[in-house]
Amino acid sequence: MTPKHITVLGGGLTGLTAAYRLAERLPSTQVVLLEATQRLGGWVDSHRYPIQYTSDGKDIRGEIVLEGGPRSIRPRGSRGAVKMLKLLQDLDLEGSIRPIPNSHPSARNRFLLGPSGSLQALPSSALSLLRSPYLRDLLFGGLTEPFRRRSLVLDESVDAFFRRRLGPAIADKLASAMVHGIYAADSRDVSLRSAFPILHEAERKRGSIVLGMLLGTKSPEEKRSEKESWDELGPLGKEREGWSLYGLQGGLGTLTSRLAERVRQLGVEVHLGNPVTALSMKDTNIEVSTSENTVLTSRLVSALPPHRLAPLVTLPNLRSNPLTSVGVINLVFPLPPAQVHPAGFGYLIPRSGPSQNPEGVLGVIFDSTALDTEGEPPVCKLTVMMGGPYWSSYPSTSGRPMERPSNPTELVSPALQHLRRVFPHLQDVEPVLIRPKLHIECIPTYLPGHGGRLRELHEAISSGPWKHKLSLVGSGYGGIGVNDCVGSAEEVVDALAQGHSATGLERWADWS
Ligand SMILES: Cc1cc2nc3c(=O)[nH]c(=O)nc-3n(C[C@H](O)[C@H](O)[C@H](O)COP(=O)(O)OP(=O)(O)OC[C@H]3O[C@@H](n4cnc5c(N)ncnc54)[C@H](O)[C@@H]3O)c2cc1C
Repeated sequence: MTPKHITVLGGGLTGLTAAYRLAERLPSTQVVLLEATQRLGGWVDSHRYPIQYTSDGKDIRGEIVLEGGPRSIRPRGSRGAVKMLKLLQDLDLEGSIRPIPNSHPSARNRFLLGPSGSLQALPSSALSLLRSPYLRDLLFGGLTEPFRRRSLVLDESVDAFFRRRLGPAIADKLASAMVHGIYAADSRDVSLRSAFPILHEAERKRGSIVLGMLLGTKSPEEKRSEKESWDELGPLGKEREGWSLYGLQGGLGTLTSRLAERVRQLGVEVHLGNPVTALSMKDTNIEVSTSENTVLTSRLVSALPPHRLAPLVTLPNLRSNPLTSVGVINLVFPLPPAQVHPAGFGYLIPRSGPSQNPEGVLGVIFDSTALDTEGEPPVCKLTVMMGGPYWSSYPSTSGRPMERPSNPTELVSPALQHLRRVFPHLQDVEPVLIRPKLHIECIPTYLPGHGGRLRELHEAISSGPWKHKLSLVGSGYGGIGVNDCVGSAEEVVDALAQGHSATGLERWADWS
């Protein structure tokens, strides 16, 4: 039966997507969206800034976009990738997509910061592998990997998996850096199976990552249904095969702004500055109390981070994963990027000690060359990401907990110090714009066993008082990428629109 009234909790990208699709697909249902803060979008945080400076006697003026949160989207690799592109089409944002072709320097040039403080290119082709400082480690790891034994452990850390299959050098250098870049976490803490399911599947089905990559892990049925979904996008489904990733003109805020606009046009009741403070059952309905009012609703879609939902319901495992905090410092230098760094996406820093990485930097994004900045003045935009496991307050194995600053302005000096060490050319150049952000508890660290805990959560919702009343979506469960978030919202709305109930965690029902 179609619910008369659905309340979506949390107005980040996931909650906005859920509210939009619910209003669109269930026109007779009243949809309410409750957001704690005064703005919609959650971690999506794009802003335009005016820029003005003098270079070689010339007055340079223009506007630039800076991202404090997510900026790039992958056109493949997760269940949500196709849903994201479909969403952009349905929101008439196809024209705002800014693809990065596979041949673009941003796709080909990704670096690690080596222990000596120099940039080391990650191999992107057979030829570049031959010149790579990682040649020995990758060749040895790659050639012996297919002969390594499978693990009997159901889930293990990313570090343990890479160490076991590809050796300590790859685990310490590549895997730790990759996890810094995606999860802002320590690879020894993150579940391989939840964070990189494709690698887990490769070992499970082919006995090897290398063989899994070469032979694939999907069944013919899975491949056919995937192809059908891409085909539904029309020419875009084909075009995106040539992309490494994409951004949006104006930043990812273009998407959340359009969603916010459509949600209101479709009659969703949006309440800003309304943190949900309590949830209770009232006969067959749920009473949702906020700091301002009370809403009686027949169904809830929670797009809150799980630790924010935890105090409102009696359900297991909502606080099982710690969350990392990250410093994001956008710096704009009045120089063409080519005078500062090689064209590329940026660099990551493997797990390192205080002598090599005194500021606790995770990586730096070369914003001027990572994404399309057409129309912007020729400035060098850099984003320093720092903190994460280096600031963790949870018991971690990362070794060197640093104190997390309490004010974002405290991040500026260490970020500049780091950049000037890596790019001495910046020694005498002052940024024309600095935007430091301190994102507290922004990314969940899926600890090993995450999938099993989601199964328990699914069972608790399906069999207890929340049965047919609560769906869980967002970055706390099945992936932190923007594609995963959109995908989770779309899947739940699909089920509700077809008259089914959905916990949002059906995927984990058979997890073992
Ligand atoms: C710095 C950074 C960079 C990233 N870069 C990328 C990237 O390049 N590509 C990518 O794919 N992903 C990236 N991610 C991940 C991605 O941005 C997030 O996983 C995603 O935006 C999460 O969206 P969400 O709606 O699930 O959660 P959130 O954005 O956390 O939204 C939850 C909302 O709930 C609200 N809320 C909380 N408590 C309450 C309450 N009690 N009542 C009502 N509302 C409440 C919050 O205010 C918030 O608006 C990045 C994340 C960060 C932090």
